[in-house]
Amino acid sequence: KERNPNEEEFQQAVKEILDSLVPVFEKEPSYIDHAILERMIEPERIISFRVPWVDDSGKVHVNRGFRVQFNSAIGPYKGGLRFHPSVNASIVKFLGFEQIFKNSLTGQPIGGGKGGSDFEPKGKSDNEIMRFCQSFMSELSKHIGPDTDVPAGDIGVGAREIGYLFGQYKKMRGGYEAGVLTGKKPDFGGSLARTEATGYGTVYFVQEMLKGKQDDLNGKTVVVSGSGNVSTYAIEKATELGATVVACSDSNGYIYDKEGINLDTVKRLKEVERKRIKAYTEEHPNAEYHEGFENIWTIPCDIALPCATQNELNAESAQTLVKNGVKAVAEGANMPSTLDAINVFQTNDVLFGPAKAANAGGVAVSALEMAQNSSRIAWKFEEVDAKLQEIMKDIYNNSVKAAEDYGKPGNLVVGANIAGFLKVANAMVDQGVI
Ligand code: NDP
Repeated sequence: KERNPNEEEFQQAVKEILDSLVPVFEKEPSYIDHAILERMIEPERIISFRVPWVDDSGKVHVNRGFRVQFNSAIGPYKGGLRFHPSVNASIVKFLGFEQIFKNSLTGQPIGGGKGGSDFEPKGKSDNEIMRFCQSFMSELSKHIGPDTDVPAGDIGVGAREIGYLFGQYKKMRGGYEAGVLTGKKPDFGGSLARTEATGYGTVYFVQEMLKGKQDDLNGKTVVVSGSGNVSTYAIEKATELGATVVACSDSNGYIYDKEGINLDTVKRLKEVERKRIKAYTEEHPNAEYHEGFENIWTIPCDIALPCATQNELNAESAQTLVKNGVKAVAEGANMPSTLDAINVFQTNDVLFGPAKAANAGGVAVSALEMAQNSSRIAWKFEEVDAKLQEIMKDIYNNSVKAAEDYGKPGNLVVGANIAGFLKVANAMVDQGVI
């Protein structure tokens, strides 16, 4: 806390890991001699830079850009870019730190990183978005590359932004390095199924958790927060597997449609028309709209999938979910549940899939995109989707096993943290004090 003052989100992410790793250090004290934790908590490099851009009226604006290159023990830095007014050093550090363990869990050779800007994309024209992305990449391009650091999307950064960022990188570097960014459109090197991967992966993870209880998604009622990339495809896959998704949200409020959310409407409103989720009720008058996104958790459900942002689900909401009979919670977003909320789920026998494990499908398919770019071959959708399912199954099994091996059977938070940690820690020991 003294070394990272005023960085609450980063401190929260580190605390969760430290609590989980106690049994590892008891069993293997040599990690302490190697100062593995102290080294892991300190990013290898943080880049912070000015992003000036001109709006449509000719006014000049200045935003702040970040890239945190956290850990490259097992591969090039890998992690998304977030464009949201709340972005600051604490947010990118918490995200970058979590990414180290998540990326390790995928079994793919990728290190941990994250970046973004306090830029607000909402309400901006296409040209403004393009000019901002070009300015952002003019600086970032000096620090990334297909074998060094490979950014992707996150909140506020989707296929459109990745396209503009890629175009500018190409111009700055004067060569076609397809593997420098992932989440590209398939026409210029993107992987099929990358758009769907995080949401689908989260639902595949839920499937594995339920399988452990001889149960499945068929007939279940599901609440998904958010209505962005992760939420959309979590809704799609859960519905495909027989569940009814009755609610989703944006940062203003949530919609409740007890017949089941019409995903075509949500996709059009959010991806094409870029409207607020409230507009859903204009086309579906039987659905309800409520202001205040946090109250989405008051809707009774069997499965809750927080897929919007950090700390969107607190202990009080967790208690309400438990009271209403929730059976499983899986985190599509990064750190959406507070530490107290996780505690409520775990002490009430709710199956809980932590972000590092449950939402790792996105970055796993990003690594598959890198593999396709290196080999100059594009795989079919079904091929990538099958690999994604395999990876989610492995993540689940490895997390279950690590939890058992270290005396916390059934605790997937501890299991995922330990399984992710061990590979990176061992690589760091083997590579010496650097
Ligand atoms: P999007 O920008 O596509 O969607 C984000 C959604 O969450 C929107 O509905 C947005 O509402 C809502 N939201 C964002 N910020 C807030 C906030 N402060 N309070 C309430 N609601 C908010 O982002 P993604 O779907 O890509 O990302 C969602 C989460 O998933 C993030 O935590 C991200 O880190 C995580 N994640 C994403 C991956 C990916 O592949 N995209 C991979 C792994 C994790 P509004 O439109 O009103 O802003």
